[in-house]
Amino acid sequence: MADTSTISAAATRRPAAWSSLAGTGTDAEKLAFIEEVTTNVDAVQERVLAEILARNADAEYLARCGLAAGVTDRATFRAKVPLVKYEDLQPYILRIAHGDRLPILSGSGHPVSEFLTSSGTSGGERKLIPTVEDELHRRQLLNSLVMPVVKQHVPGLDKATTGLYFYFVKSETTTPGGLPARTLLTSCYKSEHFSKSCQDMTSPVAAILCEDAFQSMYAQMVCGLCHRHAVVSLGSIFATGILWAIRFFQNNWEQLAADMDAGTLTDRVTDESVREAVAGVLRPDPELAQLIRCEGSNSKGGHGAAGIIARIWPNAKYLDAIATGSMAQYVPALRYYSGGLLPIISTTYASSEGHFGLNLRPMCDPSEVSYTIMPNMAYFEFLPTDDAAGGAATAANQQLVLAHVEAGREYELVVTTYPGLLRYRVGDVLRVTGFHNAAPEFRFVRRASALLSVDADKTDEAELQRAVDRAASALLRPRGAALADYTSRACVETAPGHYVIYWELEKGFTSITKDVLDRCCLEMEEALGSVYRQSRVADGSVGPLETRVLRPGTFEELADYAVSRGASVGQYKVPRCVTVPAVIELLDSRVVSSHFSPALPHWAPGRRFQSDSDGEKC
Ligand code: AMP
Repeated sequence: MADTSTISAAATRRPAAWSSLAGTGTDAEKLAFIEEVTTNVDAVQERVLAEILARNADAEYLARCGLAAGVTDRATFRAKVPLVKYEDLQPYILRIAHGDRLPILSGSGHPVSEFLTSSGTSGGERKLIPTVEDELHRRQLLNSLVMPVVKQHVPGLDKATTGLYFYFVKSETTTPGGLPARTLLTSCYKSEHFSKSCQDMTSPVAAILCEDAFQSMYAQMVCGLCHRHAVVSLGSIFATGILWAIRFFQNNWEQLAADMDAGTLTDRVTDESVREAVAGVLRPDPELAQLIRCEGSNSKGGHGAAGIIARIWPNAKYLDAIATGSMAQYVPALRYYSGGLLPIISTTYASSEGHFGLNLRPMCDPSEVSYTIMPNMAYFEFLPTDDAAGGAATAANQQLVLAHVEAGREYELVVTTYPGLLRYRVGDVLRVTGFHNAAPEFRFVRRASALLSVDADKTDEAELQRAVDRAASALLRPRGAALADYTSRACVETAPGHYVIYWELEKGFTSITKDVLDRCCLEMEEALGSVYRQSRVADGSVGPLETRVLRPGTFEELADYAVSRGASVGQYKVPRCVTVPAVIELLDSRVVSSHFSPALPHWAPGRRFQSDSDGEKC
């Protein structure tokens, strides 16, 4: 880490001045900056809160909280401003979406510039997170700290940094008030800064910005293959992106090889700007075509795919993708495809609400990854969620500030952001694993409410219950049948992963036909949230939902098993999601039939801009 003599006192620097580091700072300055803000955590947080409150002082929400303009001390802030969830702010957010230009959440000097559509949902729809122009600069600053940290740990990156990164945009919509509503990544990739900062990437910007997923991936794959000897890192935002790329290679290697032989791009890629960008890279290369044929045909049956990444990109030094949280389930697959030769680096912890954390020990095992919350990004508070909190996680006096969290304990993250989300519960649970200087390092534990997740989808217990109820009432009850019980799991042994719902029917209902049980799968999918359905329909990143019907009495066996392992007979509850291998084995050994969704559920781009509770238009 940086020499501490280069560190200036954080309290003497204005947070607004930090952003310029992203574009013009040297690696040494960026490392010194990390040391500076992590050493002076409390002072930095105090200044950040003061700045957020000052710039948003004329916002309606702050006035409603009764926080007088100019008051920025933390005790008053905590006393006046309530902890909120998305649903509490939704009426304000919808007014902005519908065109109200008054300063509602952010101050008049920082109007909302766009909405980021989160993969977290409310009432089945993506949340709309308002953001402002300069928030992007803050995010860029955090992103710009990643490489200086990684370079310290991966030898040789000073000389060569070419990366094959599979990045994708999604279609965007416009709110009734005329503001863009798009994913955080779409917003980042469409920014001017991104096109300037990706010279070291093999993927042309035109390919990344192409909304057609096949054309985008095809072009990125072609360019990554052409530059295969130069590539030193291979990545995507999440682990699923790399796995999707491998699957794509396995499904399209014949065409890819033909293109390499001819030195021309398949006419399945029709986007002119993409064709033009690839034309600058693609040349006839029979040797590469031969390698692609060899790897493609070998990996068809499955086993020959072990180590495929390391063979095709022989100079790759690491895989760069988030492999923590719900993505941890893909670590074995990443290891398999890289032959266990490449470290997997999870660099950042971020969300539509803000960029929060940086992994300062990038080479550690994925199961050990912790993120240091960067105190310049937002004002952070923490709600204890573990037993030491005495079960009173949300008690008013329980929230802690960043500098005061304790090692070993778990907390739900609460943020106050520059765009004007105040004391907002992000819904993530984090465990403190240690400290970098005075800044706590956190392991991502879980999304507070997510039960099932295969890709960007996150399905909570209530959503799963709704889906099961819908299928049971539409298709079982009219036939006189009923469910005895159910549980579920995210199955990632298949590619793409899919949801498995284990069902036990009430005794005596063995006459439900295969066709009805197949349709039950689709009925459940129709009831799941829009991110799930988008992943199924538009992205193909989630496979058809599967129902495994269990023989009668299986859930009693499951209860007996839990009790034999120490569960209390009186308090035992059927888990709505199972992850323990022995339990999965027990369930799978009792399956009498298996059924898949026979069609895609409904999904269309665009969204409702209405409140979830009553459909009222603001
Ligand atoms: P979104 O709002 O769609 O960008 O999703 C953000 C959410 O993704 C976060 O609140 C986390 O639940 C999850 N997430 C983001 N980064 C990580 C990470 N490094 N490890 C685990 N989960 C993450």
